[in-house]
Amino acid sequence: MMHILFNLLLVLSFNALADFTVDMPVQVRDGKRLKVELRTLTDLIEKPVPQEHQTFDGKYFKIVHDLSDEAISFNDSEELVFKAATAYYHLSVARKFFKEEVTKNLTLSHLDKKIVIRIDQTKAYSPTNHWKEVDEFNGASNIGPSNLLSTKTWGPEIWFHKAKMVKRKSALSAAANFVDSRDFKNALLGQMLLQDLISFSNDWLIQGSNFGRYDIAGHLMSMVFSVGIVELLPKGIKLLGKIKQRYYLDTVLIPEIIYHEYAHQALAPYLEHRKVTAITEGYPNYFASKISGLNKLGARALKHNIGDRAKSKINKIMYHLDMEFSKSAAFGSFFFGLLNDIEKKLGSQGTKVIVNAIKYLDSRSNIRHDFYDALFKSIDDVAKNRVNSKALKILLNSVMIKRGLVSN
Ligand SMILES: [Zn+2]
Repeated sequence: MMHILFNLLLVLSFNALADFTVDMPVQVRDGKRLKVELRTLTDLIEKPVPQEHQTFDGKYFKIVHDLSDEAISFNDSEELVFKAATAYYHLSVARKFFKEEVTKNLTLSHLDKKIVIRIDQTKAYSPTNHWKEVDEFNGASNIGPSNLLSTKTWGPEIWFHKAKMVKRKSALSAAANFVDSRDFKNALLGQMLLQDLISFSNDWLIQGSNFGRYDIAGHLMSMVFSVGIVELLPKGIKLLGKIKQRYYLDTVLIPEIIYHEYAHQALAPYLEHRKVTAITEGYPNYFASKISGLNKLGARALKHNIGDRAKSKINKIMYHLDMEFSKSAAFGSFFFGLLNDIEKKLGSQGTKVIVNAIKYLDSRSNIRHDFYDALFKSIDDVAKNRVNSKALKILLNSVMIKRGLVSN
């Protein structure tokens, strides 16, 4: 009897620990377009039950539906299985990237622990109760483990919220407040008056001594126009911002969004969950672009993205003080572009310098001082010798000047 029981236990524990792989249709990008293809899911935990009861419970990811704690079953609805397979596959791709490419510079031992992934999550996050009785659609939430003040306990989780067609104010309404600030208006006015002065002096030079023909009235008009347009422009943008847009975003079906969310988890020991700054959002964009090979994130996502602007690593957004500590994820685009410029400028050492700099950053780091400092330290770590270090710092400075972070 004892012998049989022992054998049974042995078989069960063997089965519980065995990993298996399975091929399933998942959403992938073929070059740029989204399409459905077969992919192999690895590291799934085989259950001691028949095949039809297998679930999306793996060594590193457990995929659940909404508020449930049970892994989604292979014989759940076709749509849910497709979403679960897509999430499982791309999370594995992202994990592999971080394990292979990033652990050379950063300590990421937490990536070997299992995390819970919620698909079609309908409720908003609550730091005390895990979630609250408030609906949240169209986006993703990255959350850390529960703390001592929480009434429930949970580990780190990624939530892909259920997509739902809603109407919202256009993204311009957020921009309008910025454009309407006195700071911005003064900067804009300065630029426009400068343009007038330049054309004034050009005319002066071209027309030389023939002063009589100089159209002073025309230039005065132009200057009045400059002042006027600075006041009018923000109002126009504000009006446009009042237009309601249709908005629908199924985050779990867009691979690069899955990479972005996983990057938040991977970088959590350095850049905390749920602290939104240009740096904490810009780095996940950088990694999502590296893993996917895309210059633009969230573009060409068919019916899965209606109304959310794609984020491009190729941009010329200039630094502005408002970008520090702002809660607007939009400033992540500036930082995404900045990282891309630095990487390109530093050539073969660019990626290393950027990734290694993360260990000198946290969620309170600002761009102007802390990030700049982190890059200098990182260059000292990465450079082959002092000459190389100096050269890299000069190249870095040229990018910082171009983006308005340092004056030359
Ligand atoms: Zn994010």
